[in-house]
Amino acid sequence: MTVLGIDIGGHSIKAGTIDTAGKILARKTLLTEADKGRKAVVSNILNLVKHFLSKDRQIAGIGIGIPGIVDAKGLIRYTPNIPLSNFNLGKQLRKLFKGKLAFGNDADNFALAAYKFGAGKGRKTIIGLTLGTGVGSGIVINGTLFSNNGAPELGHTTIQFDGPRAECCGNDGCIESFIGRKHFSEDPQAIYKEAMAHDKDALKTFTLYGTYLGVAISNFVNIFNPDVIVLGGEISNAYNLFRKTMEKEIKKRSLFRTRVVKNKLKHAGILGSAVLAF
Ligand SMILES: [Zn+2]
Repeated sequence: MTVLGIDIGGHSIKAGTIDTAGKILARKTLLTEADKGRKAVVSNILNLVKHFLSKDRQIAGIGIGIPGIVDAKGLIRYTPNIPLSNFNLGKQLRKLFKGKLAFGNDADNFALAAYKFGAGKGRKTIIGLTLGTGVGSGIVINGTLFSNNGAPELGHTTIQFDGPRAECCGNDGCIESFIGRKHFSEDPQAIYKEAMAHDKDALKTFTLYGTYLGVAISNFVNIFNPDVIVLGGEISNAYNLFRKTMEKEIKKRSLFRTRVVKNKLKHAGILGSAVLAF
């Protein structure tokens, strides 16, 4: 059996077919083109699906990861970074494909992929965090994805009760208001390069990032006592720059011991989306 996994992100849409063992058979990526509006984004998604359906007649299911809130039938409620809020993607895909369609949140899918194929393999309870423009979260408890009408949203829990008013959720001092896009004075990739060249301010940006993240993670550890926490997303590439301060806070504040690791599984977004359709 082959399934198609599609991971819709703010910058690009990644898609690939996988077999039941999780082996990727073919892959293709298109730009999301969110700045061109909904019509362009939808057309890019549908074109990717058509591409794979024409190449592979064995596709039995399609799983789609959405960076936001989506129901099981593909009605997208809210996508802060791409123009798909209040759009029924399921209805559009149904016109192209009669097999199984499954939809899920991209961070949930990341956690599922880590649980099935990555750093969470063989573990029972894991948390996946996607560190990028925002902070996405997915939780697998005793082998089952915990999901409840858009929750969990660990990235919007509070780490400073009188902290700055967050644009993301309106809360004061939520995690994302500290370590989301605003934490970086310019493109995080650029700051990363500066940090690698020993620029002091750039290095401090990441050590401070680790402190905030460590405080946040210690709360998750005290609530869930997970076997492992897997970090993914663009910023996780700077793991070695924020690891030390992150671990210091976790050690200081957590009641339980847990492992926090950087995701090494390639194409986790595609794999996690595809898993939904099995
Ligand atoms: Zn928030």
